[in-house]
Amino acid sequence: MFFIVCTTIGHASTTVSHHVGLSDQLLDFSDIKVISEDTKVPLEEIAAFLDIPFDLKKGITYIRKNGIEINYNENSKITSKNGVPLDWFPIVKVNGKLFISVNYIAIEMGYKVHDFPKQHTQRIYRDDYGHMSHDDYEIYLNQILNRQTSTLPAKAEEKAKPTIYLTFDDGPNKFTTVNNATLKKYNVQGTFFFVGNYMKKNASIIDSVVKDGHYIGTHSMTHDKEKVYKSAKSFINEMNEGAKLIKQMTGKEAKLVRVPYGSKPDLSAAMQSELLKNSYKLWDWDVDSKDWKYTDKEADQIVKNVKVGIEKSYKSGDRDIIVLLHDRSQTTKALPQIIEWLQKEGYAIKAYEPEHHIVKNFLRDTSL
Ligand SMILES: [Zn+2]
Repeated sequence: MFFIVCTTIGHASTTVSHHVGLSDQLLDFSDIKVISEDTKVPLEEIAAFLDIPFDLKKGITYIRKNGIEINYNENSKITSKNGVPLDWFPIVKVNGKLFISVNYIAIEMGYKVHDFPKQHTQRIYRDDYGHMSHDDYEIYLNQILNRQTSTLPAKAEEKAKPTIYLTFDDGPNKFTTVNNATLKKYNVQGTFFFVGNYMKKNASIIDSVVKDGHYIGTHSMTHDKEKVYKSAKSFINEMNEGAKLIKQMTGKEAKLVRVPYGSKPDLSAAMQSELLKNSYKLWDWDVDSKDWKYTDKEADQIVKNVKVGIEKSYKSGDRDIIVLLHDRSQTTKALPQIIEWLQKEGYAIKAYEPEHHIVKNFLRDTSL
């Protein structure tokens, strides 16, 4: 929900949507209130976003992090920091729910806050966490906020749903065949990141993946963390050999890579520049299905993770959502339900399109 009715105390009532961002995202709050010209959000929700533990004891709510304790006393309505009562009210209770000043909690927890007055947005960020410039963030904000106001009619909103890219790592293997058949059944294209060492003995699987119009990128030769990330040289060799094998076996260029375990934290700056030098593109993901940790019987949990993740990305304004899946048994059980849900909800599903590359990497490197 981004549409919030706010009342400016002491002035005429106004209806403006206020927003709060964190790093490169817009956060999704159930309510945002502007009270005495200070933007406040539900305490419980922002604590979750900023990973701040809090607890309630005998009518006093405590927030504790980094050696700072902030508490709010229900009876006196006073907020204290490290035992010292404050002379203003960063925390207030409205209709039984605690709201906290965005500025206050962010600064106390070591973040900075940048105001975008035109967009009624406060952006929480930290210089030691990678983030786009404020100028770029303003462009991003304008894009999302314009879309929100222009998508009010139900039909337009449906059209404005993000595109979903289903990606399958760790094949080719017998489950690749099952996933491929499911994609075919629902007339959907996906993106496969193959491990080079499994490719040679699975030529027929690869042929059918190519024939059905999916994109194939490399996921290294060995998938062995020690080998892949040993040095910039071993890293780029793994990618080059993987891409070369794809070219040999499919006739297609494979310039998109997914590195084993994702680009953070193992991919070094030297590896990053090797990717660039060799004109690769790098995809991590937005939504982790965590499929690897479930059994076949728990496939519902995979479906749930995907749904929740996609809805969260959608609400934060993401237009292109990449979902991480694997060619594993339990994933083959979840995939039909995932696709049925996506189609029912009106999401478009696409394979990677090299000619319309979308930047999606944890390094936030826009050239990859
Ligand atoms: Zn993998």
